[in-house]
Amino acid sequence: MRLNKIEVQHYRNYDGLTLDFPKTLNIFLGENAQGKTNLLESIYVLAMTRSHRTSNEKELVHWDSDSARISGVIEKKTGTVPLEIIISNKGRKTKVNHIEQKRLSSYIGQLNVILFAPEDLSLVKGSPQLRRKFIDMELGQVNPIYLYDLVQYQSVLKQRNQYLKQLAEKKQSDHIYLDILTEQLAEFGGKVLFARLEFIKKLEHWANLLHKKISHEKEELAIDYFSSIPLDKENFSLEEIQKQLLQSLLDSRKRELFKANTFLGPHRDDLIFNVNGQNVQTYGSQGQQRTTALSVKLAEIDLMYSETGEYPVLLLDDVMSELDNERQLHLLETIEGKVQTFLTTTSLDHLNNKLTVEPDIFYVHQGEIEREA
Ligand code: ATP
Ligand code: MG
Repeated sequence: MRLNKIEVQHYRNYDGLTLDFPKTLNIFLGENAQGKTNLLESIYVLAMTRSHRTSNEKELVHWDSDSARISGVIEKKTGTVPLEIIISNKGRKTKVNHIEQKRLSSYIGQLNVILFAPEDLSLVKGSPQLRRKFIDMELGQVNPIYLYDLVQYQSVLKQRNQYLKQLAEKKQSDHIYLDILTEQLAEFGGKVLFARLEFIKKLEHWANLLHKKISHEKEELAIDYFSSIPLDKENFSLEEIQKQLLQSLLDSRKRELFKANTFLGPHRDDLIFNVNGQNVQTYGSQGQQRTTALSVKLAEIDLMYSETGEYPVLLLDDVMSELDNERQLHLLETIEGKVQTFLTTTSLDHLNNKLTVEPDIFYVHQGEIEREA
C-alpha cells in the first residue's frame, strides 16, 4: 500500500500543504521545531483518526483556525481510495471515497501505518500501559472488529466501576445489575483476550525471525502474553476464555466490592519479552532491549503483510540517530524498496552511503515544505 498524495490544511503549524509521493523513500529534513513530526503525525492521524502524541484534538488544529483537514489518496492492490478527516471542536468527521463514515471501524484499516519514534525503543522498558496501547493500535488496524470489541469492553468496564463505587458508598444494593455488567464484561473481554492471544503468537513468529537475524543467530525472542486471569495459552477457544474470565470475576467479587474496582481482565494485562529464556526487561542489556523493540516494531511490517496482503506505510520519526550503525543497516534492509517510508531527520549523516534506493528529499522549514530539485 502507498500514500500517493496528501493535503493538509490548518494542521498544527501547517497553513496549507499539498505533496505527492512518487518515490518509496521520502526523507523530511529540517532543524528542530520546524514541523517534521507534525507532518508524520498528520499521516498517522489520516490513518488512525487519532494522534500518537496527544488525545487533545484541539492541539492538532492550527492556533489561528477552528478546524483542520487532512486528505490523502492511497493506492492498494484493489485500486485507489481517497480518505479525508476533518478535526474541529465538534469532533472528527471521516470520509472514505468521499462518503462519510459513521463508524470508526469502517474507517480505520483503510490506510495501515506503522509509526516508529524514539520512545518506541522503550516498548520493552516502559510501562505495561505502553505495551497494551501498542497491542491495541496494531491489532486494531488489521482487525476492525477488535476495535469495536475493545470500545465495548471499555465502556462496560467504566459502567461497572461506577456501579461498584455506588455499591461501596451504599447508594445501590442491587447485585443483579452487577451480574449483568459482569457477564457483558466477560463477553467482550473474552473477545479482546482471544484476539490478543492470536495476535501475539503471530507477532512472536515474525519478531523472532528478525531478532535472530539482528543478533547473528545468537538470540531467540519469545513473547509471552501476561494475563491477569489463568489461561491455557496453547490451546484456547473463545468460549473457554469468556467462561474463565467470568469465573475469575465472580471469584474475586468480595475484593472487587471492597476495592470498588475491576482489577482483572485485559485492561490489566501485559507482554513479557524473553531473550534466550530470560526476561529481557529485567535482565537484558540496553542493546538487547533495543534489538527486541526494533524486532517487534519491524515484525509488524511482515505481520500486516501476511494478514492483509499489503505492506503498511512506515513512519520513522527521528529513529536513525537513536540506533547504532548495524541496527540502522538492518532497519534499512528490511524496508528498502518494498515498504513506502516517510523518515524525518535533522541530518543526512546517518543515511549517507547506506541507501540503495534513490529517495525524495523534502526540506521542512517553519511549516513549509520544499522538495529538493
Ligand atoms: P524536532 O526535530 O525537535 O523533533 P520537529 O520538526 O519534529 O522538531 P514538530 O514537533 O513537528 O517539530 O513541530 C513543532 C512546532 O509546531 C512547534 O514549534 C510548535 O510551535 C508548532 N505547533 C505545534 N502545534 C501547533 C498548533 N496547533 N498550531 C500552530 N503551531 C503548532
Ligand atoms: Mg520531531
